[in-house]
Parts: sequence; C-alpha cells; structure tokens
Amino acid sequence: MRSLSIFGATGSIGESTFDLVMRQGGPAAFRTVALTGGRNVTRLAEMARALQAELAVTAHDDCLPALRAALQGSGVEVAAGAQAIVEAADRPADWVMSAIVGAAGLAPGMRALRHGRTLALANKESLVTAGPLLMATARAHGATILPVDSEHSAVFQALIGEDIACVERVIITASGGPFRDWTLEQVRNCTVAQAMAHPNWSMGQRISIDSASMFNKALELIETREFFGFAPEQIETVVHPQSIIHAMVGFCDGAVMAHLGPPDMRHAIGFALNWPGRGEVPVARLDLAQIAKLSFQAPDEQRFPALRLAREVMAAGGLSGAAFNAAKEIALDRFIDGSIGFLDMAAVVEETLAQISARNGLGNSPTALEEVLAMDHLARHTADDAVRARLEKR
Ligand code: NAD
Ligand code: MG
Repeated sequence: MRSLSIFGATGSIGESTFDLVMRQGGPAAFRTVALTGGRNVTRLAEMARALQAELAVTAHDDCLPALRAALQGSGVEVAAGAQAIVEAADRPADWVMSAIVGAAGLAPGMRALRHGRTLALANKESLVTAGPLLMATARAHGATILPVDSEHSAVFQALIGEDIACVERVIITASGGPFRDWTLEQVRNCTVAQAMAHPNWSMGQRISIDSASMFNKALELIETREFFGFAPEQIETVVHPQSIIHAMVGFCDGAVMAHLGPPDMRHAIGFALNWPGRGEVPVARLDLAQIAKLSFQAPDEQRFPALRLAREVMAAGGLSGAAFNAAKEIALDRFIDGSIGFLDMAAVVEETLAQISARNGLGNSPTALEEVLAMDHLARHTADDAVRARLEKR
C-alpha cells in the first residue's frame, strides 16, 4: 500500500488532493502518514479521521487544544507549530504533497527531499526562493520532484519522451486575471474582493490576488527557469483568456506541443498522484466545439510590472528570488489589510530589490536553507520599511 502525507491539507490544493485520494479508495488504498493545516482544525480533524492519518499538525500552537479535542478517541496523534510541521516530513511516506502557501512551504519540502521522497510540488515559492538548493537536494538524495502548478505539469507532460536539448522555447499561458481588460486607472483603485474574483480558477485568496497582479505568472516564470533549467530568454508567457492551453513547448524543428485541459487543479494533482502512470481523474472533458475559440494576446508589462521584475530576478540570480518572494508576500499582506493600493505592491517589491541590491547585494545561489531564510528575513524588513515610507508620504 502506498503511503502519503499532505502539507497544507486544508487549503485549495490540499482539498483537491484529499478529494482525489478519497476517490481512489481513501484509507483502503493509501496509508496516510501526516496531514497539516492552519487554523481550520475542524476540517483538518475531519480529513484526518476520514483518511485514518497517523498524525495531524496545526501550524498554530494556540490551536492545539481544539485539534486535540476534535481528534479525541480517533487514534490520530496531534502536534502544533512550524517545527512540528517540518518534523512531520521526517515520517516515512512514499508521496508527499507540498501545498502550504508561501515561503513557509520551503522547510518541510526540503526535509522530505532529504529523505528521498517523491515530492508533488504545488508550493511554487520553494523553487522561486531556493531553486538551485531544492534541485541539488533532490539530486543528492535520489528524491523526485513532480511539478503541480498547472503550467509546469503541462510542460512536464509535453516533455515526456523528448530530448530536452531540442527544446527551443517554453510558453506558459496566463488567463490575465480579473483585470485583463481594465485600464491602469481602474486597476489602481481596485478592491481586495475585485482582485480575488478570478475569472477561470477557484484558488486560495493569496494566489488569486497574485493572479490579478500577475505576480503569480512572475513566480511561475522563475519556477520554470528553476525547475527545468531553461535560459530566461527561452521562457515566455502569453495571455490566453480561456485557460484551456496551460503551456506549450516549442522544439528546434518548429513543432509546438500544447497541453490542454479544463481549468481544474485536480488534473495536475492527479497526474502527480498517478505518476509515472495515468489514472482516472474526474475533471470535465473538453468540448472544443463548445469552447469554439482559443485566443491569445501579448502580456502588458506597463499594467503588470511583476512580469518585468521576474525578468530582472532571473537575470540577477543568486538570492534575488528569495528577496522577490518575501517582498511580494509583505506587499500582499499590506494590500489585503488595506494599507496600500494594488499598484503599490509592485512598487514595494521593486524598491525592496533595489535597496537590497545596493546595500547588501542579492547574494550567490543558495547552498543552505539558512542563507535563504536570512534573505527572506532581510527582504521582509526592507519591504516593511518601504511600505512605511509610502504611508508617511501620503
Ligand atoms: P490556500 O491558502 O488555499 O491553502 C494554504 C494551506 O497552507 C492551508 O492548509 C493553510 O492552513 C496552510 N498554511 C498557510 N500558511 C501556513 C504557514 N505559515 N505554515 C503552515 N501552513 C500554512 O492555498 P492554495 O491556493 O491551496 O495554494 C497552496 C500552494 O499551491 C501555493 O504555493 C500556491 O501558489 C500553489 N498553487 C495553488 C494553485 C491553486 O489552484 N490553488 C495552483 C497552482 C499552485
Ligand atoms: Mg499556475
């Protein structure tokens, strides 16, 4: 029987993973080792009971009594805190889903790789902040990373059986988000609710807003570079409002292989769950005649400066991805709490990168987790200062 753990089980990706695991037989087909979540301990406990998990971990110490109460008599062990989440990755599991949101997903994923596990990686921040370290750790310990971001799963699938040396270009698609056709002025004054209203995908709050600002696509450009190792100039993005084609790979003979599917993350998760084979996945089947039209447009870096910043990060290398992501996380927090406007997010990230580059330098490629965490810490402080300076200027 295969064993598995789900980190970030109560989130959008976690729920979809749980759904697929239950459909494929649940506790009769899988031995569930660890499930982790945040404050929603009721749901975490429900999932742990349904899968007869060994261990359930909440990220928050103050949630431990409630989790313990919810799992009374179930035989599921409980724990709390960031360290307990990392330690949950020490427990043997064949397949590990990394679906915590943000830089917090890096340490448990790294720990799983050190044990040589197969890591289904939804947490794109791991590759953005620590790509070279993550890939080297996987190689050194014989671990496998399977991309779960839809675009990267699509590229991965388009590359099966191909010689990577023959790849000319990779094109990841972007829906354009809710503000695809808004003017710069309209975007400037948008609300959190408007930014969260993604036209095609149902996702967690943070990635939904990142999709509206195209910071999500910026992270994904960097993720493509780090995971597949293509040169920055080989990696493109194109706006494709229907979100049917997730990515395309162009080869040296001019052929382009596209991966199509409905906008449902259970496809990419199901691919990783059944890899190296394929299994039944309950996503809607495409009716191309009904979809009728697939359209494309060039991305607008004027309205979405995150894309330009991603190019700068790919060129700078070193620890710039860690700085970029941390500054973005702070800017997003401050947008969500109403301190800054939508367009201020990119300005704060740009200022943070410029200040760290001028004062401290953006560092060398990380060789240890501590180096990544130190840059993450510095960038959060620098971004906080940048936000404060903007608020004082008002
Ligand atoms: P979400 O916000 O819905 O869920 C996040 C999960 O992580 C929850 O279980 C939450 O409790 C947990 N969590 C949050 N902060 C934590 C912390 N500090 N420590 C420990 N656990 C914490 O997020 P999501 O939309 O499911 O996204 C998860 C990851 O997958 C992100 O990295 C995202 O970029 C990536 N991703 C998501 C989608 C999608 O469709 N939702 C698509 C592609 C990639
Ligand atoms: Mg994606």
